[in-house]
Amino acid sequence: MSEVFVLVQFADGKVSSTTLELVTYGARAGSVTALVLATPGTGAALASQLTTGPITKVVIVESADFSTFGVSATADVLGQMVLSQNPSALLISSSAFGKEVAGCVAVITDSGIITDAVDLASDLQATQIVFGGSTTVHSRVSHGCSIITLRPNSVTPELSPSTPSVEISQIVVNESAKLAQTLSIEPAVKGGRPDLTAANAIVSGGRGTGGDFSPVEEFADVLGAAVGASRAATDAGWYPHSLQVGQTGKTVSPQLYVACGISGAIQHRAGMQTSKTIVVINKDPEAPIFDIADFGVVGDLFAVLPQASQGVRARKSS
Ligand SMILES: Cc1cc2nc3c(=O)[nH]c(=O)nc-3n(C[C@H](O)[C@H](O)[C@H](O)COP(=O)(O)OP(=O)(O)OC[C@H]3O[C@@H](n4cnc5c(N)ncnc54)[C@H](O)[C@@H]3O)c2cc1C
Repeated sequence: MSEVFVLVQFADGKVSSTTLELVTYGARAGSVTALVLATPGTGAALASQLTTGPITKVVIVESADFSTFGVSATADVLGQMVLSQNPSALLISSSAFGKEVAGCVAVITDSGIITDAVDLASDLQATQIVFGGSTTVHSRVSHGCSIITLRPNSVTPELSPSTPSVEISQIVVNESAKLAQTLSIEPAVKGGRPDLTAANAIVSGGRGTGGDFSPVEEFADVLGAAVGASRAATDAGWYPHSLQVGQTGKTVSPQLYVACGISGAIQHRAGMQTSKTIVVINKDPEAPIFDIADFGVVGDLFAVLPQASQGVRARKSS
């Protein structure tokens, strides 16, 4: 059986849900080896969380260089592992960090790369949705290791208990990967809401909010959802550009996407139309976003959202 490498990612010291999605994809194509790249003294504790799989093996590499030299150190070690172990694939989450690492590993190992896949078959054929969501592409790497990044929330993890073997690797970061150093990292100050690209549910507001996002935020908070925005809203300065969804913003694929006061321009749809369930609130019944809605409410968001929030709260407390 071929071996599939999965780069484990952690959020606040816990295995991220996207890692479990990668494991699910990896298990379709072979036996999964989870790679834990950690700072010294932390690898074992992080690896001990990998008890859901199927994961056959965990390989830990510890180095202070991962935090100091970021992408280049991570890519260097992954490149060395791919070249020495010859796995059939390396799966990485489609974050900005993940895609940069994947690109570097592809160069180091002279392998083909596919980014932003939304599905992966057992023969490593990847599916991508491109050109603003209008075209589905099936492709397969034809040279070297299949380096594939997969979008978060594109699969429901199929998990089972795992008792993987654990190996400590002595690989060290090459000097050539230490040419640029990270001096400091200051995470953006954010509220208690989940990260937009990894959220299970997103409530987004557009020009229809008129700049008042309070009902959008209230509904997001009762759902435990992230808040997104259309470009009309971010360009107007109503909401941060970092939370813009669409072609020139973030690509999201949550279980639930609620579009409030958003018309559904192709550039917005490009960033959200692979969402599993799309709910639309818009006062114009002809708004194009209704074309991709699973559920729609024709109405004023300032009337509909407070009632929806109230309804969810009542449901939760009953
Ligand atoms: C190169 C390029 C890249 C772009 N990238 C992006 C991108 O990444 N993301 C993005 O979003 N856009 C992007 N755009 C812009 C895009 O074309 C649209 O202009 C934008 O998405 C419109 O935002 P909107 O739907 O909020 O506003 P509008 O199109 O003005 O729609 C507002 C909607 O709100 C409804 N509404 C009004 N009041 C209410 C109310 N009280 N209650 C309920 N509904 C109400 C209206 O019926 C209308 O349907 C891009 C454009 C270009 C050219």
